[in-house]
Amino acid sequence: MVVEDTARVKDYLTKTKLANLDYVINPYVGCPNKCLYCYAAYMSSFSKHKEEWGDFIDVKQTRKKINTFKIKNKKVMMSTVTDPYNSYDEKYCVTRNIMEQLVNSEAFLSVVTKSKLVLRDLDLLKKMKHVEVALSICVLDEKVKNKLEPNSSSIEERLETLKELKQNGIKSVVFVSPIIPQITDYITIIERTKAFTDEYWFDNLSLRSSFKTKMFKFIDEEYPIYKSLYDDIYNRKNLQYFEEIDSNIKDYCEKNNIVYKTFYAGT
Ligand code: SF4
Repeated sequence: MVVEDTARVKDYLTKTKLANLDYVINPYVGCPNKCLYCYAAYMSSFSKHKEEWGDFIDVKQTRKKINTFKIKNKKVMMSTVTDPYNSYDEKYCVTRNIMEQLVNSEAFLSVVTKSKLVLRDLDLLKKMKHVEVALSICVLDEKVKNKLEPNSSSIEERLETLKELKQNGIKSVVFVSPIIPQITDYITIIERTKAFTDEYWFDNLSLRSSFKTKMFKFIDEEYPIYKSLYDDIYNRKNLQYFEEIDSNIKDYCEKNNIVYKTFYAGT
C-alpha cells in the first residue's frame, strides 16, 4: 500500500451536484477497502499514483478550518468516494479531526461506512444535532462478503455497530448497496436488521468502468448460472431487472412500514 500522508488540499468541504446533497467530505483519496465493485475507481485519474485503485491512499491535510456557517442547514455526506472510517483513520484520525470540527455545526450530516471504527467517534456523534450513520451491507454471508469487500469490517461487526449506534440514540441506516443482481437479498437484510435500523437506502450495482471486468470474472467463477442475466443487464442494457427490483422494494417497504430511499440510477 502506498501512503501519501501530506496530501495538501484547500478545504475538506466540496460542493456537490449529487442529488439531495449540498456538500461532500472525502477525508482520503483512495480507499483500502478494495471492494470488487468499487464505483469510485475513476478517482484514480485525480491522483498522481500509478498504482491500482485500492493500492494507494492520500491522507488529506489542510490548515483551513471547516466553515460551519456555510453548512448550516445544508446536507453534507461523508463520504462518497472513500470510506471515512477506513483502517488508516485509526492512525491518521483525519475523520476524527473533521468530526471534531463538525460537532457543533447545524449541518445535516450523513456518514457512510463499512467499518466498526465509526464507534470510536460515538462521543462526537452523540453531541451532533442532525446526524445519521449508514452502514453499507450488500450480503449477509461472510464468505461472500470477504470476496466482494476483503478489507472492511465483517458483517457481524457491522450489525453490532448498528445496534450500538441505535442504543446510543444515533439514527441508524442500512445502505443496501450495491444491490448485486441475484446475490443481494434485500428482504433478508431488512428482516435481519430492522430491530435496530431506522431507515434503509438502496442503490443498484452500476458497472460502467474497469471494475466491470472484475465483477464479470467474479460472476463467471462463483455464479456462472447468472452469466446471461449479467450480459443482459450490463451489456445489452436491459433495464427491466432493476426496474422490477425498484418497484418490489417500494411495495415491500410500503407494506411493512419501512422508511426508505432508493437511488436507482441505471446500470
Ligand atoms: S468502501 Fe466504497 S469507496 Fe471504498 S472500496 Fe468500497 S465501494 Fe469503493
